[in-house]
Amino acid sequence: MLTGALLTLVLAADVRLQPGVARPGDAVLVEVTGTTEAPSGQLGSTELVFLPLGAAWVAITGLSVDQKPGPLPLEVVAKTGAGKERLEGELTVRKPDFRRRQLTVSKRFTNPSKKERQWSADDQVAFNQVLDRDFEPWTFTAPFAWPRNAEVTAPFGDLRLLNGKKQSQHFGTDLDGNTGDPVYAPNDGEVVLVRECFASGGTVLVHHGGRLFTAYFHFSAFSVKQGDHVTRGQLLGKVGKSGRVTGPHLHFGVKLDGHWVDPESVLRLEVSLSDRPTSPGASPKTP
Ligand SMILES: [Zn+2]
Repeated sequence: MLTGALLTLVLAADVRLQPGVARPGDAVLVEVTGTTEAPSGQLGSTELVFLPLGAAWVAITGLSVDQKPGPLPLEVVAKTGAGKERLEGELTVRKPDFRRRQLTVSKRFTNPSKKERQWSADDQVAFNQVLDRDFEPWTFTAPFAWPRNAEVTAPFGDLRLLNGKKQSQHFGTDLDGNTGDPVYAPNDGEVVLVRECFASGGTVLVHHGGRLFTAYFHFSAFSVKQGDHVTRGQLLGKVGKSGRVTGPHLHFGVKLDGHWVDPESVLRLEVSLSDRPTSPGASPKTP
């Protein structure tokens, strides 16, 4: 039985990086196989935290929208049966070329009252409280799906100009919809925030483990409550026009390890690792 003998000799660790070329504001997935325990590593100056997913160890991090284009070095130290193994790679970061848009919003939002400023400040506190979490285990084993099947009306990264000056940047993807249209969970996770906010209106935040959150703004109705565990495809709420909007739509956001990243870059990640055969030596502990 030569095959069996050969298999037990294959203990080398391997690293895979997704995508090969990234844009500032993209999610980046680093997958390490063939290790006996959690690897450590860095992408540029960002410390990677690896969590078990299927037969691999996976770190998902986000590039800042202000990330400089050029090569970003990847360094991973994996522990195999043979000892420590150093793995290296490189991520190419391209120019973002974000769109420039003129911003038109109601005076109420450019000139909020004292009460509204307090409401907005309270929203920020509520957001920060739930976003400041440890690297908990991944809650999913399938890729992320769209929360609704609809046209993208404003992509991630649009630069919003007010009188020609950069006022803000669009940190999500807007999806077309009418008030009352359903919005579904793009993956398994835990609902960590359900709140009526000043700017984002009816808001839901879902944590998917590993400091990866998805956000849903401007809901007209909620179908979940804080603490609920949701599965991929479960109804979260209804499209609306609450908060700082000009019409009904869904603002879909992803916050990843402290950065708002392009949701479309998260949807492109291959994360279906659960059915991959476990190689000898790869036995990540399930927490
Ligand atoms: Zn939006």
